[in-house]
Amino acid sequence: MAAIFAFKCSNCEEIHEGSPSIGYRMPDPYASLSEEQKATMGELSSDFCTITHEDRTDRFIRAVLEVPIHGIEEPFLWGIWVSLSEKSFNRYLETYDEPVDGDCFFGWVCNGIPDYPYGESRPADVVVQPGGQRPKVILHRGEHDRDPLVIDQTRGISIARAQEIAEHVFHRD
Ligand SMILES: [Zn+2]
Repeated sequence: MAAIFAFKCSNCEEIHEGSPSIGYRMPDPYASLSEEQKATMGELSSDFCTITHEDRTDRFIRAVLEVPIHGIEEPFLWGIWVSLSEKSFNRYLETYDEPVDGDCFFGWVCNGIPDYPYGESRPADVVVQPGGQRPKVILHRGEHDRDPLVIDQTRGISIARAQEIAEHVFHRD
């Protein structure tokens, strides 16, 4: 029943096919470092990032935040970074090749999404996935239920809204 997402872009006139997947290559705290700081304090791979400060180390992993699109099988994907505690980060690292079903970590979302401005930090559950897939981010609701991203993750978005966001993001530059 569910369909494939596709639309004719009002920006470039092309047909964009498939549910949008927007990935961030690094967490914002890493992106904001100078080149020298990146070289001396930072470590970045496709799935892990650390920033070593004098008094602490910040740890981040790459995850996926899904927003359902009404009537479409594949969700809108945001490939974002979350920060984890040392304990959670080490557990994720140790079980990276063979994730343990049911593992779930607390994390903070560490990328700002321009289409979803929100003045506060976003707490989330980070749920490991089998088969080499990145962990899923489930945003905390409760006191954050005014966050437009929480609302969209909970209720899903219309095809028109998905198209609107995709047109912005694909042609941001
Ligand atoms: Zn386009």
